[in-house]
Amino acid sequence: MVAGDVQELVDGVRAGDRRALARAITLVESTRPDHRRDATAALDALLPATGTSVRIGISGPPGVGKSTFIEAFGTHLTAAGHRLAVLAVDPSSARSGGSILGDKTRMERLARDPQAFIRPSPAGTELGGVARRTREALLLCEAAGFDVVIVETVGVGQSELAVADLVDVFVLLASPTGGDDLQGIKRGIMELADLVVVTKADGDLASSANHAAADLRRAIHLLRPKYDGIGTDTVLVSATEGTGIEAVWTAITAVHAHLAATGQLATLRAGQAKAWLWDEIRSGLLEQFRARPATQAALPALEAAVVAGDVSPTVAAQQLLGGGGTIAP
Ligand code: GDP
Repeated sequence: MVAGDVQELVDGVRAGDRRALARAITLVESTRPDHRRDATAALDALLPATGTSVRIGISGPPGVGKSTFIEAFGTHLTAAGHRLAVLAVDPSSARSGGSILGDKTRMERLARDPQAFIRPSPAGTELGGVARRTREALLLCEAAGFDVVIVETVGVGQSELAVADLVDVFVLLASPTGGDDLQGIKRGIMELADLVVVTKADGDLASSANHAAADLRRAIHLLRPKYDGIGTDTVLVSATEGTGIEAVWTAITAVHAHLAATGQLATLRAGQAKAWLWDEIRSGLLEQFRARPATQAALPALEAAVVAGDVSPTVAAQQLLGGGGTIAP
């Protein structure tokens, strides 16, 4: 892409053109060096127009009701005049090549909503890569005028941590049939939550949803508060009946407003920017290391020697880092 094309793309994104936004996101997802260069130039030009949205992370185990909730919540927001972008960080897509948002039947209404923009997770990259590109996609959405950005992730493994590092407010979805073990939600994940939403609080599930909410409130009460001056609420929602949706938005905006007013939002985002910098440094160094002829020459044999137990991983790493190294006979 020549400089003029990048400028055209930048202008398109700034004008809120969804096709330009989609193209820009494709560019940031690409690993081709020339694409990376154009993406970096575009991001740099757009940076002043970013930082303006309410960044929401939404996580929960498969089947908890994430897509049904985001559809109801998102439709509610766009009806209230917001412009909403939904991005996905999906560790399973890295493995299977599929994507949590790739399934066309998910969020059908929201996908047709002109005030909403839905983007599946880029496939074929490791979680770290997906998270990095999602961060850039989030900034692009902000530059395109989306004032609410949701980053969705499946609550398995490390993806919640990655998402919590991208957003202002982290929402954990919990199932109504949790039980005493709190549906296996790990303490560390619970500590990330700014808001807990118990889903499917309707019909036959209403009373178990109430119990689950009470259990969760008790568990949260035992945790150290994430921020000064504000606690983690638990809200009951039925996405199919539309109850509790407004309460979720009220709770999210309350957290966001509190963080902004107390300077904690600025601190949070500054910390995230710093973490991002180191993330880029780490992956950049790793790429350079992998691309070095000395590494490429020595790596296969050293890796095999480590696997066979002939060389310790520490020694092998030191040899590789110290200039390519060779295995002593
Ligand atoms: P995800 O895997 O977390 O995205 O979950 P889905 O949104 O696909 O929902 C999983 C299942 O739960 C589906 O069968 C939904 O119909 C059902 N479900 C989702 N939200 C609700 C709700 O508010 N009430 C009830 N009763 N069922 C729901």
